[in-house]
Amino acid sequence: MPFDLSSRLAERRAAHLYRQRPLLESPQGVRVVVDGQPLLAFCNNDYLGLASHPAVIEAFAEGARQWGVGGGASHLVVGHSSPHHALEEALAEFTGRPRALLLSSGYMANLGTVTALVGQGDTVLEDRLNHASLLDAGLLSGARFSRYLHNDIESLGSRLAKAEGNTLVVTDGVFSMDGDLAELPALCAKAREHGAWVMVDDAHGFGCLGRNGGGIVEHFGLNVDQVPVLIGTLGKAFGTAGAFVAGSEELIESLIQFARPYIYTTSQPPAVACATLRSLQLLQGEHWRRERLAQLIAQFRLGVSALGLNLMDSPTPIQPILVGSSERALGLSAALRRRGILVTAIRPPTVPRGTARLRVTLSALHSEDDVNQLLEALQQALRELPEGE
Ligand SMILES: *Cc1c(COP(=O)(O)O)cnc(C)c1O
Repeated sequence: MPFDLSSRLAERRAAHLYRQRPLLESPQGVRVVVDGQPLLAFCNNDYLGLASHPAVIEAFAEGARQWGVGGGASHLVVGHSSPHHALEEALAEFTGRPRALLLSSGYMANLGTVTALVGQGDTVLEDRLNHASLLDAGLLSGARFSRYLHNDIESLGSRLAKAEGNTLVVTDGVFSMDGDLAELPALCAKAREHGAWVMVDDAHGFGCLGRNGGGIVEHFGLNVDQVPVLIGTLGKAFGTAGAFVAGSEELIESLIQFARPYIYTTSQPPAVACATLRSLQLLQGEHWRRERLAQLIAQFRLGVSALGLNLMDSPTPIQPILVGSSERALGLSAALRRRGILVTAIRPPTVPRGTARLRVTLSALHSEDDVNQLLEALQQALRELPEGE
């Protein structure tokens, strides 16, 4: 029997690493129905509350009426339609870069970009806590691949000194499971010393960071020379779907020529681009959503430290509570759920061994009262499951 799947599954279960998919029976939001149970949710990435915004829904519906449903072909054949093109122009303007390229998902944007830029004889250096799609992309590229210590510029520097060929330094902007920010100004300076390019995947920064929601590069005031390759995803704060790469004319033309996950796939439904054009306006213009998030983040951090819990160093809506063992993280998540609150336990291999956590995420649609409810439920869950048990 070459494929012994049942013992593989049993092992995963025994290690408290078995994954199950909660069934969402309502639209995405802060109040959801999951597996038949109404819950107050603190775990989606819809940070600004745009996924179910009436104006975004209307733009999507109108887009479908005008453009139909399917993209119908790849971009290079005849699937590149006016809404896709208009969204690319809007995203280029939003990011202050000469051009942007729209792709169907962040995973594909990362895979396509890294593999188009580096290959055999080149070097790709990644933060060890980078998103799985970036790590996969680095491995698949065929370039020499090395991971430096998290946000450690010295560790990066020693690898840069040994790098060969074209060298790409790749980092999350906001780290997806920790919520902290890449030390971009120092990282970009170090990369420049060695003639390397920097690629930032700011999936969780766009919409949340920067005065206009321009993400980590707006937050730090970095331009296209310092960060030549900028990735954003549209399924998080934008509330829709897809991803983009923003950069120079030559970068985007190179991706159109060489990025296989861009070339060999059907374009996203044009109506999704119509919806994103609308959500981009809301994301940029409605500053109150970022202000509300800042208030909720401050309230949550104050409350959690009063409970003596281990918060991570995060200024973003990703506010994980470090727990340690997978078993205890699952226990706390279940105890919260019995109290009507949904928070996901994140376990290895998504995070390093021994660092299982409750990944709390906040949304501009949460109220102060919602956060109080979460804090109260956390306090009760801790009493039920004291440390060390
Ligand atoms: C979610 C995420 C992606 C993947 O984006 P999708 O559009 O969901 O495929 C890539 N990078 C980071 C850092 C992410 O958090």
